Amino acid sequence: MRRKFIAGNWKMNGSLAANAILLNGLKAEIGRPACAVAVCVPAPYLAQCREELTGSPVAWGGQDVSVHESGAYTGEVSGAMLADFGSRYVIVGHSERRTYHGESNELVAQKTVSALKAGLIPIVCVGESLAEREAGRTDAVVGAQIDAVLSMLDVGDVGKIVIAYEPVWAIGTGKTATPQMAQDVHAMLRSRLAMKNADAAETVQILYGGSMKPDNARDLLAMPDIDGGLIGGAALKAADFLAIIKAA
Ligand code: PEP
Repeated sequence: MRRKFIAGNWKMNGSLAANAILLNGLKAEIGRPACAVAVCVPAPYLAQCREELTGSPVAWGGQDVSVHESGAYTGEVSGAMLADFGSRYVIVGHSERRTYHGESNELVAQKTVSALKAGLIPIVCVGESLAEREAGRTDAVVGAQIDAVLSMLDVGDVGKIVIAYEPVWAIGTGKTATPQMAQDVHAMLRSRLAMKNADAAETVQILYGGSMKPDNARDLLAMPDIDGGLIGGAALKAADFLAIIKAA
């Protein structure tokens, strides 16, 4: 049985003072959660997460990773640097990076490999736009995104990734995919994984992301192939994030 996993994506939000309130709020109430929990934070706050979260049930990680190991790549952060600060996870291929930074399926695949090389667990984001969904192209688009990643992975590494299905039209919009819409895509993703490594397909956690909130989390998380959530806005309020953790 797959353990549920709730990951927060803080995006470019936070300050030392605001993070301290949020992290202390989480630590005070989280107890011993049944699911795995992590926060993916802006790189400058990784040290603060290590300080605040070491010994707690909340892991932490970054939101992007360079394909390069080191060198003249101004502004980039390597997998080893994320690992240096105790990161367990890193988000790769978030739709905001695909849209605003032109990240291609191939680059996302390379970043996935970089993360694995550094010993991190990549949370690989995939998802279609509204136009693509309305044109009936969801499976083709999302399938191509995941296949690009799988084509670069060794068979033995398939089980080391986490996938997040995040329909672009649901991110930060308050619109959520229905549980059945999400389940259909998750099942498709699992079947793609199975073509590469049938055993790993049974263990890889496939998260849903896109306006998951305390009031819709339970129904989404009840679907057989939805193994958790990647949470944006609701991860910035301890009470909301904790309520989703409880639902999982
Ligand atoms: C996200 O940023 O990955 C996300 C799912 O955001 P939100 O929950 O705000 O839609």
